[in-house]
Amino acid sequence: MKADVVVIGGGASGLMAALFAARQGASVTLLEKNLKLGRKLRITGKGRCNLTNNCEVRDVLRHIPGDGRFLYSALNGFSPQDTIEFFEESGLSLKTERGNRVFPVSDCADDVAELLIALCLEAGVTVYRTRALEIQVRDGEVSAVKTADSFLDCNCCIVCTGGQSYPLTGSTGDGYRFARDLGHKVTPLRPSLVPLESPDECCGRLQGLSLKNVELTVLENDRILSCERGEMLFTHFGVSGPLVLTASSKMEKWDTARYRLEIDLKPALDEKTLDDRILRDFAKFRNRTIQNALEELLPHSMIPEILSITGIPAALQANSVTREMRRKLLDVLKHFPLAISGPRSWAEAIVTAGGVDTREINPHSMESRLVSGLFFAGEVLNLDAYTGGFNLQIAWSTGKMAGISAGQKSIRTGI
Ligand SMILES: Cc1cc2nc3c(=O)[nH]c(=O)nc-3n(C[C@H](O)[C@H](O)[C@H](O)COP(=O)(O)OP(=O)(O)OC[C@H]3O[C@@H](n4cnc5c(N)ncnc54)[C@H](O)[C@@H]3O)c2cc1C
Repeated sequence: MKADVVVIGGGASGLMAALFAARQGASVTLLEKNLKLGRKLRITGKGRCNLTNNCEVRDVLRHIPGDGRFLYSALNGFSPQDTIEFFEESGLSLKTERGNRVFPVSDCADDVAELLIALCLEAGVTVYRTRALEIQVRDGEVSAVKTADSFLDCNCCIVCTGGQSYPLTGSTGDGYRFARDLGHKVTPLRPSLVPLESPDECCGRLQGLSLKNVELTVLENDRILSCERGEMLFTHFGVSGPLVLTASSKMEKWDTARYRLEIDLKPALDEKTLDDRILRDFAKFRNRTIQNALEELLPHSMIPEILSITGIPAALQANSVTREMRRKLLDVLKHFPLAISGPRSWAEAIVTAGGVDTREINPHSMESRLVSGLFFAGEVLNLDAYTGGFNLQIAWSTGKMAGISAGQKSIRTGI
């Protein structure tokens, strides 16, 4: 069997790569080991698919820790605006929500996957449901892909196998093996955008409590690493929610560093204003216990935890609270401490940080600098972003660039 271009992996980047390679006039075969194409894509954005972020390229780059500059060309070639136009012109109506997050109007991620599949089939892409096992190279050039049941001769191969997080969707890390076998460096891998585990027993007691408009500070060996406002959630194992997921992507040194978090429960109030507010509440509820006097200021379930850290007895009358006790209280409200023991497992990570070293990839084509005809796109690369539609934007932009480059090259080369 033969194809000009073989694309390994039918996820977001693979569907995009296959489509644009075929649109160059190349014969394209897409290999997907799952029965269904785009399994991860179908669960993105809680099943609604936050497919990009309606912002400028420079803002996308700000949401990519690490070497975002590698993406400059790919993002300028296919920006968030281009993504929006591409999907709308293909018949999928989109809407922009809070934080510039773009979703299909239907709120249905399946619609995104089905649209890409339909476009691929229309462009003549052949789909095989099989697992790629090995990429074969002759004289420094890609020559074939070995699958579980056959050999496919080809001029170009695009590796779009994703990372190794959420492996149940098919991303089990095969692409890293292909890359290493062909001489590529793979930078250390770690789960990112992942909930965090805490040994603090209060998390279990606060399980289910969602905090909105709080400020979360990440400390690495007591040095402030980041500080952001937003929403977080206590769980039976520790903490989760948007703020925590973003915080996790900054925690890169689990082997050597010690991490802890501090929550500012009232970031909009400086200490003086917060102290005035507490004094007003204590005056208003002077005959109640301190526990009851704090009910208007704090979520009910947090009050015993806060009082326990300060050492103030919950049954103390509000009018008996001393200045020193109030100082302790303020300190805990602005710096509620949480120890962190590690990230949750790969199964719960939204993305994989680390991957095929971008220094060995041409940023203007996504082609390997080591093997002619070998391309990479999507999460298999050493690229990841914060939440907000940026990870799918990386998949679309690199997938399209790799597809166009491989499609054109394969036709020039000819089998
Ligand atoms: C729960 C969840 C929600 C998310 N929500 C969002 C969101 O709303 N917005 C956003 O921007 N990002 C989101 N992401 C991240 C985003 O889904 C990924 O970054 C993106 O899907 C990566 O695309 P990809 O094509 O590189 O990899 P994938 O989508 O993982 O696709 C890789 C494909 O390759 C196939 N494959 C692997 N190995 C082989 C092989 N040897 N042979 C054949 N096929 C193979 C796999 O089966 C899989 O289908 C979310 C991720 C998760 C887990």
